[in-house]
Amino acid sequence: MKKDNCIFCKIANGDIPSKTIYEDEMFKVILDLGPATKGHALILPKEHADNLYELPEETAGAAMKLAKKLSVQMKDKLGADGFNLVQNNGEVAGQTVMHFHLHLIPRYQNDGQRIGWTPGEPTQEELEDIRQKIVG
Ligand code: AMP
Ligand code: ZN
Repeated sequence: MKKDNCIFCKIANGDIPSKTIYEDEMFKVILDLGPATKGHALILPKEHADNLYELPEETAGAAMKLAKKLSVQMKDKLGADGFNLVQNNGEVAGQTVMHFHLHLIPRYQNDGQRIGWTPGEPTQEELEDIRQKIVG
């Protein structure tokens, strides 16, 4: 289902033009308008889901399979030295468009980007506490 006033629904279903690099029944893959690096692209499901929590399992699996295929193709064709997959859920995690999307970000030596975090230094007890919360 499409969602009214969702920009990625409009793009994925062809109501708004985009620089498309791949399309099938389930997905459209477009170049990001504010790219981190040359070739930064977004895998957009045609069916609306706000985020990963709402995404059907089948679509999630197919998105990762497509990411694998496109990352190899883009790495070869663009001469990338590395590749990041990024997927944000929720404003606090950096999601700005509330339609699930998977970022494909080719990386180049000295591209000036930094995608990462500051590592914490948890104790074994803290790690165990978190582990129990997740599996319990
Ligand atoms: P996120 O912060 O994970 O929600 O990512 C949203 C991404 O969508 C950003 O990288 C934006 O540059 C990109 N974006 C927003 N609007 C458009 C658009 N109309 N066409 C292509 N990319 C877009
Ligand atoms: Zn949508």
